[in-house]
Amino acid sequence: MSSDSVILLETVNFAAEKHRNQRRKDAEQTPYITHPIGVARILSHEGGITDIEVLQAALLHDTVEDTDTSIGELQAVFGQTVARLVQEVTDDKALSKEETKRQQVEYAPHASHQAKLVKLADKLYNLRDINRCTPTGWTAGRVQEYFVWSAQVVRGLRGTNPALEGHLEELFKQRGVEL
Ligand code: NDP
Ligand code: ZN
Repeated sequence: MSSDSVILLETVNFAAEKHRNQRRKDAEQTPYITHPIGVARILSHEGGITDIEVLQAALLHDTVEDTDTSIGELQAVFGQTVARLVQEVTDDKALSKEETKRQQVEYAPHASHQAKLVKLADKLYNLRDINRCTPTGWTAGRVQEYFVWSAQVVRGLRGTNPALEGHLEELFKQRGVEL
């Protein structure tokens, strides 16, 4: 039986290899892997989460959406729970961008508690990232639109983790967006 630290290293290594050629949408083209690591770190450091499956799902949360990874592969390597959590936070690639955004709002309240935690940390990371540095090519209007949509998703995730929700609420308040 592997220790939690060994499992987490396996997981972060898997994610790093999968995202190895990807970059964030910022001017510095930050390596993409900083995002999943940061999402897991928000959960542990700010959310007080020690549930290893949640931390693993955070590390892997964009592998299926953004790389050649399949849910079956995650199930074989990391087990059913982690694979199911990643599935819960993965957008359906067959849908249009608009439909995907609508689905996230609709699905949020129905997600499992563990998946809601990953979603909250993902939104918190991305909003902080946008505040740190506007993604390449985004107008102020598009940034505001992103905050408004994120608030609609986060509304459906409330009652999950007071610390993370508090930080999100503050970010929305700074933009004059009602949660
Ligand atoms: P998004 O608008 O969803 O792009 C944001 C996503 O990119 C984040 O959720 C995050 O997802 C990822 N990301 C990567 N780098 C960063 C970063 N530095 N900071 C924050 N997030 C980052 O997707 P699209 O670019 O495909 O745009 C689609 C939508 O945008 C459409 O619905 C359209 O309506 C709207 N749009 C609006 C425009 C406007 O001017 N108002 C213009 C064009 C499109 P992850 O967690 O997966 O990494
Ligand atoms: Zn993400």
